[in-house]
Amino acid sequence: MNTPDAIVALLKAVPYFAGLSPDALKTLAAGCHSKSFGAGQVVFMEGDPCHHLYILESGRVKFCRMNAEGREQILRVFDRQGDTFCIPSAFSTERYIVNAMAMTGTRLRVLDVDTVICALGTRANPILAQTTPGLAVNRWGYIVADEQTGMTSLPGVFAGGDIVTGAATVILAMGAGRRAAAGILDYLGVTREDRVPEEASCQA
Ligand SMILES: Cc1cc2nc3c(=O)[nH]c(=O)nc-3n(C[C@H](O)[C@H](O)[C@H](O)COP(=O)(O)OP(=O)(O)OC[C@H]3O[C@@H](n4cnc5c(N)ncnc54)[C@H](O)[C@@H]3O)c2cc1C
Repeated sequence: MNTPDAIVALLKAVPYFAGLSPDALKTLAAGCHSKSFGAGQVVFMEGDPCHHLYILESGRVKFCRMNAEGREQILRVFDRQGDTFCIPSAFSTERYIVNAMAMTGTRLRVLDVDTVICALGTRANPILAQTTPGLAVNRWGYIVADEQTGMTSLPGVFAGGDIVTGAATVILAMGAGRRAAAGILDYLGVTREDRVPEEASCQA
């Protein structure tokens, strides 16, 4: 696994890097180094500064913490080649948020990280309004939907969640989904008596 091609192949299997060009992968591969650990050896400790991303080449690593009684709690085990860890630490806390320990002889490919820039967008995709005649959007490009029913300006078309409110939360999106589900049933003329009670539909 030490040839440049083998390292590129490993990186390519990492979902975060899947979209990178061959040249970009080669550059990343050149910046990686390999580290081996024996069974039971500490990879890093909670609270230490985090300047690396780790990619599993072989072996097994566990994430763990000590609970209040001093007992070890295993939070996660990484055992598949290409498993990548320390993304949350590198992205936000810059410190390891758990302890990591090799469970067997383990080899990791380590990528040194000075700065991680989160490149994600949460805006509405303009294609939506451009390709859907009659769909009303507000000035930020979010879909206009009735607050009670979720129905858009197109009869029978419903929307909810971030595409209506702008970047918000899961709980708000779930609420919008429930309201839209009721709105759809109203639109289809399903009477309240004919509806499956919510508890029953959750159990089904
Ligand atoms: C980095 C980040 C961290 C977050 N952390 C939290 C958190 O800790 N707690 C919290 O409550 N919220 C959090 N949020 C916000 C939360 O993720 C969103 O509010 C929530 O996911 C909105 O749900 P949604 O169903 O409206 O949209 P989404 O979850 O975005 O779902 C929309 C789906 O539609 C798909 N899609 C888009 N276009 C098309 C198309 N043309 N055809 C087919 N499918 C399409 C997308 O791929 C996606 O799967 C976070 C958001 C981000 C970006």
